[in-house]
Amino acid sequence: MGRMHRCSRIAPSPTGPLHLGNACTFLVNWALARNLGWRLVLRIEDLDRDRAAAAGDTGTAEILAWLGIDCDGEPVVQSERIESFAAAMGHLAREGLVYESPHSRSEVREAQEALGAPHASDAPRPFPASLRPAPGDAWRFARRDVNHRMRIDAGDERIDDEAAGPHAFRPAEVTGDFLVWTKSGIPSYQLAVTVDDIAQGVTDVVRGNDLLPSAALQSRLHRALGAEPPRWWHLPLVLDADGTRMAKRAGACSLASLREAGVDPDRVRGLVASWARGDARPEPVGPDGFRARIDPNILRSWHARASVSPPRLEERSLAWLHDS
Ligand code: GLU
Repeated sequence: MGRMHRCSRIAPSPTGPLHLGNACTFLVNWALARNLGWRLVLRIEDLDRDRAAAAGDTGTAEILAWLGIDCDGEPVVQSERIESFAAAMGHLAREGLVYESPHSRSEVREAQEALGAPHASDAPRPFPASLRPAPGDAWRFARRDVNHRMRIDAGDERIDDEAAGPHAFRPAEVTGDFLVWTKSGIPSYQLAVTVDDIAQGVTDVVRGNDLLPSAALQSRLHRALGAEPPRWWHLPLVLDADGTRMAKRAGACSLASLREAGVDPDRVRGLVASWARGDARPEPVGPDGFRARIDPNILRSWHARASVSPPRLEERSLAWLHDS
């Protein structure tokens, strides 16, 4: 697919129930795509087979339909694409960018500690360059069941986020050489997401702000795979009433349980629109009404507001949802 057409994607991981935070990013993503004439594709990120199996059927298709979100074309299922990920690893290996990294977690920790500098517990601890192998055999992808890392060179990685504004990252100082293929024989999230964004012709990535630092690694991967990085649109995360991140385990606000309880999806859209716009009182809105309330400028002012006071799922909002 050419780069002429802009395209965004919805990429849920079926490892737990979808919640109101997911509804927020998915709905805004959909509204942007439909308002700006982009394609919108669906991708099921089910590489974590154990967690996906434990979660059972999360009913993604039904939930998206309930929210009024329609996607274009057939969904891509990552667990069916292992050979494409392996082919990308082959490319990276030929470029001399990836290596086998068999060190255990404790060996990595020891090497980090040997670097000397006292570390605050929350300071980033990049993978130590001392554990990078010398040029030679380890710089390959022979599909052995060991972790593989990609070499990350020093330097700023600038992300001019369409929603969150400009950010600069130094991935070599924060992550260092990062995991691209795991010893369980599957690609890491960073590799799989990048390979599939390229394969699906994704030009615009709309997702939660927790993944903003990943955009720096993914930009490097895009270039290493011969593609231009997409435009990024990272959206503020909605917090739980107690100010913590809305976790997928938050059963009470899972979309499946809201749907089963007979909640009107107009109210879910209304609540999301009120978060994005900073409206004091939500009102029910249909899909068209929701679209009419979302545009790129709204996203920028939402960020400005969220940096002062992030949107939260208040008890009274939950009560309002059920009050049909
Ligand atoms: N599948 C990831 C998640 O559910 C999102 C990946 C992405 O948008 O890049 O958190």
